[in-house]
Amino acid sequence: MDTSEICAVLARHPALDDFAGQVSAFLDSHLPEPMTEETPRPPWLSLRKHAAEAGLTALDLGCVIAESGRGPIPGKPTEPAAVVPPGAERVAQGLAMFLAGRQDCDAREVFSSGHGAMALRYGGPAVARTVRERVVHGGELAGVASSEPHSGSDLRGLRTVAVDHGGHLVLYGTKGLVSRVEEAIGFVVFCKVVGSGRASLLRGDADLLREVPLSAVWVPMESAGISTETAAPLGLRGWSLGYLHFDDVRVPKDNLLGALGDGRRIFDAHFSGWRLMMALVCLGAATAAIEETVTRTRRRSVGRTALADVPSVASRLGAAAAEVQAATAWCFSLLERMERNPTAADVAACSAAKAFATDAAYRAVDIALQLHGSDGYTLCTPMEKRLRDIRGLRIADGPNDTLYSVLAHSLLAGPRQGRPLVAAQRQA
Ligand SMILES: Cc1cc2nc3c(=O)[nH]c(=O)nc-3n(C[C@H](O)[C@H](O)[C@H](O)COP(=O)(O)OP(=O)(O)OC[C@H]3O[C@@H](n4cnc5c(N)ncnc54)[C@H](O)[C@@H]3O)c2cc1C
Repeated sequence: MDTSEICAVLARHPALDDFAGQVSAFLDSHLPEPMTEETPRPPWLSLRKHAAEAGLTALDLGCVIAESGRGPIPGKPTEPAAVVPPGAERVAQGLAMFLAGRQDCDAREVFSSGHGAMALRYGGPAVARTVRERVVHGGELAGVASSEPHSGSDLRGLRTVAVDHGGHLVLYGTKGLVSRVEEAIGFVVFCKVVGSGRASLLRGDADLLREVPLSAVWVPMESAGISTETAAPLGLRGWSLGYLHFDDVRVPKDNLLGALGDGRRIFDAHFSGWRLMMALVCLGAATAAIEETVTRTRRRSVGRTALADVPSVASRLGAAAAEVQAATAWCFSLLERMERNPTAADVAACSAAKAFATDAAYRAVDIALQLHGSDGYTLCTPMEKRLRDIRGLRIADGPNDTLYSVLAHSLLAGPRQGRPLVAAQRQA
């Protein structure tokens, strides 16, 4: 089934044929079968390092890395642009995420540029160089720390503060729950930067802090004053989840990403693409689930009838496949629009596409689990793991309810008469 949507993408981007083959060959050799909870967990970080050595990480950053003008690092592979033609980087990254998701949602970190993309796009030379060397070429990981225990969905309500002392910032607060607390070499931390004169006034005053614009800062994990705490998640257990505590952490002011107060812009631009990537991981998982269910329902009979020939079975499977294919097409169409106009991401559409895709993927895997009967409910098939993993991605990177509202708000704020609303707002 993936054939139709992925074939359609490859038909539009024939130059990505070789690249898709490279990614598939990498997965065949390192993750040949979809993971189950019983399969020994692969050494995910090592797999990411292998992918980096093969030039398969940070595919969507080819231009950014090339533009940095610092040239390749001796002894390291050539730039990703060597395998992905310019102008197709985001689509290539999306393909890699979809193919990774077919094997396991935790494979999402293997090829991804991850949140290091923000440091590369918006960081100063020293930050960009570290991230380029360690995350892109070295296969290490960068995380993002936005959510806080009292406020995940409400960005204005964040209370982590960086006090501006001129040449450096001093950071305090707690982030969580966030992914990769044990693996990441550094985090893009979203916080409120305040002058040292106002710091004591604002400390503990949540209402005043709401009015301070958001900034983003790169915080290396080796900085003194950071401690971590892990929590046990329902799914996505291949990577750690937990809290980051910042206890007066000193960070050079050069680690600010973009300008002071640029946090919201950076967040929206980055998460538009990132959410589509997470959506495609889940759609890959759902596509594999549907394919496995097609095979099983053909083989399995109830009485004298193959399960696949029971009309209600076929209809449920068809409905799930239709949703998954529609969501896949939507995500790739948004990625193609981003390729054409990288500076004007449609935040509302990307948000809603992530919500729709992860919801559709969850429904599809639930039907697939059902049609696998009691087998599907065991740890021996990938279904229950997929269900738990996708469940997490319906909350992570913005809860789906909130993301649908983003699209609704953009429609409601649009023109009331004249040109059709959707056409007016969503011109490519
Ligand atoms: C697996 C996983 C990985 C994560 N990784 C990271 C990470 O790496 N970095 C990071 O910063 N954060 C991460 N998060 C945190 C995630 O971004 C937040 O959980 C999410 O934004 C929701 O915030 P919250 O948990 O505080 O929920 P709340 O803000 O308390 O919301 C609870 C629920 O209320 C509903 N809701 C909230 N606001 C609205 C609204 N405006 N409209 C309608 N319904 C609403 C939603 O159903 C939501 O799920 C991760 C979460 C998970 C589950």
